[in-house]
Amino acid sequence: MSLSQTTGSSSDARVATPTAFPDSGTFGVTERITLLSATPDAIIYYTTDGSLPTASGPIFDPYKLPVLEAINVDEKGITSIYTIKAQAMKAGMEASAVVTFTYTIDRRSKDVYFTKEIHPGIQMILDFDDTKMFLVTGSERALLIDAGLGTGDLRSFVAGLIGELPLDVVITHGHPDHIAVMGQFQHGYNVYMHHLDLPLAETFVKQMGYAIDLDRIIDIREGFVFDLGNRRLMVYEVPGHSAGSIVLFDAENGILFAGDAVGSNRPTIVDSLWMQFPGMAMIDVYLSTLQGFRSKVSGKIKEIFGGHNDLPIYGEQYLDNLQQAAQTLVDYGEDILVPSLRPADAWQVVAGNRLTDPNWAAINVAKAACLTVPADKLATLSNLQVGGATLQPGFKPSGYTFSAEVAATVTEIEITPTTTSNRYQTLTLNNKPVRSRKACSAQLEQGDNSFVIVVTSPDGSATQTYTLVVTRA
Ligand SMILES: [Zn+2]
Repeated sequence: MSLSQTTGSSSDARVATPTAFPDSGTFGVTERITLLSATPDAIIYYTTDGSLPTASGPIFDPYKLPVLEAINVDEKGITSIYTIKAQAMKAGMEASAVVTFTYTIDRRSKDVYFTKEIHPGIQMILDFDDTKMFLVTGSERALLIDAGLGTGDLRSFVAGLIGELPLDVVITHGHPDHIAVMGQFQHGYNVYMHHLDLPLAETFVKQMGYAIDLDRIIDIREGFVFDLGNRRLMVYEVPGHSAGSIVLFDAENGILFAGDAVGSNRPTIVDSLWMQFPGMAMIDVYLSTLQGFRSKVSGKIKEIFGGHNDLPIYGEQYLDNLQQAAQTLVDYGEDILVPSLRPADAWQVVAGNRLTDPNWAAINVAKAACLTVPADKLATLSNLQVGGATLQPGFKPSGYTFSAEVAATVTEIEITPTTTSNRYQTLTLNNKPVRSRKACSAQLEQGDNSFVIVVTSPDGSATQTYTLVVTRA
């Protein structure tokens, strides 16, 4: 066989030439490169300095992706060109051809903003780091969601887009890539952020020197509605990524503006829901929060616009995967964690294939600090629903006593307890065994009806008791 033969019948014995994800091209921000060979179990050798790969050189590790950094020199952008050469090898087969991938990272200046109309009346504003802000223009008012990481004159940029319409500004949470220039709007406009994120914002005001007047930030809570005339956006609290994370939902059009509350999933950046830092929620608590939020908007979400994805996430499959990822960690504990692809020192749980599934989801966590108690000892409920009545207070993972009221004519209700762990040992309602997520019918007497729910952890060592009083008026 001639070494120069690359096609024809001899190619069966040759290892498939590597491909790259993303393929060669031009990008604006830091990218991570995945190398693949169609030959199973092939080893991919690669270089990033233009030299030829050799069998003694670096081997592609799917958990340590080559990083193409996007660099700024002070405020200015800069164009960087990266070359990756790769060759796949496997014992008993001819090595693949050497393939070259070339990437141009065209880093924008830090003060640049540009915009894309994603729907009539909704502009996605991007800054130098591809952080996403949204400008929603209604018939009566306009609403800016988030203030990015960039350093430019966002106020003038937005003013140029809204004409004479009055403007409000809402910040989804207190991280630097959402608050950087919110201070520009604090004179002349109302600027809202959930006050549980004030300490977070204060940290970054001190660290980054942002010109934000913390005293002028107006608190915002679940149920607040931004009425823009022909479009209404309701605030929901979805804490976890930060204590004060909120999302905004346009129920009529099925559009959810999510900030970072449910994460992002750009496959080459690589994104996830970041939950690995101190102050972020334990995943069993977040699972409950996510279930609670989803029960309020279930079936209504058509598109999700987050703080980082370039394209909308369509439908609710992504949220299903995100919830599944959280549930997997809650059920099976830290043994199922894999190394995070970004940043390198975190761990993650993944649902779906990043390379093929637009709805893949991942959650970054800190090992040994991601569950309230070890998975085998979880004896909590993550949700409790009473059919035809509203739980008071709303279900929260930290609450153990609830009440609900029904009309005098109601003689039967359905109670649906959801255990946090799918591996619970026992679940009882007034001493009778019941199943998690299944509605149980209960007869109601006139006046107060007490229900006691007891959960036992997977290993049987822990129990938790919940009390529900349903009053038939
Ligand atoms: Zn964030």
